[in-house]
Amino acid sequence: MAGARTRTVACALAALAAVVVLDVVLAARSWSVPVEAVLDEPAHLLTAWLLLTAAGVRSRQVVVWALAGAVLIDLDHLPLYAGFPVDAGGGRPVSHSVTTVVVLLGAAAAWRAQRTRLAALALGVVLHLVRDLGSGPGVPALWPWLWDPLRVSHAAYLTVLVTAVAVIAVRAWRGGAGAAASPGRTTPGSPPRRQVG
Ligand SMILES: [Zn+2]
Repeated sequence: MAGARTRTVACALAALAAVVVLDVVLAARSWSVPVEAVLDEPAHLLTAWLLLTAAGVRSRQVVVWALAGAVLIDLDHLPLYAGFPVDAGGGRPVSHSVTTVVVLLGAAAAWRAQRTRLAALALGVVLHLVRDLGSGPGVPALWPWLWDPLRVSHAAYLTVLVTAVAVIAVRAWRGGAGAAASPGRTTPGSPPRRQVG
């Protein structure tokens, strides 16, 4: 089990290192939109995975749909690139906000059969905003109540990730390897855990 614990912590450290490298490359110059997406979306996935793992989320369904939400929200940039002014004047679209989270949670409340998936998508959007708050122009997180984009420093964002890695390490050493999931890996023989929603 010690090997699995070490592996979990190593995965978390590798994810953190990968995000740092991706951000260094992203900041090195101005990239075309497709290249920026190729660099930025993996960082979103890794950010979401680190935070989900640190929070102890173990439901495979929740993890998969939250990771999906953490990247699919960026499809809202497409109308912007097509010339539709869907931003709040701050660069990112207004759907990069708590409004999308509320809509998804409302849909989850209304559509019982898809409740877990929709709630997990909403969670993924929140995790996406964590990274976007610390990059570029920030996000209109409180649109339509507040149109100005909110942002935090990149250092604050990295501090959140370092804290997540620390939590994952403590969790791994305290609770055993089963307390943390790895991307694309389930723990054989463990009983099904509670589902969100
Ligand atoms: Zn985004």
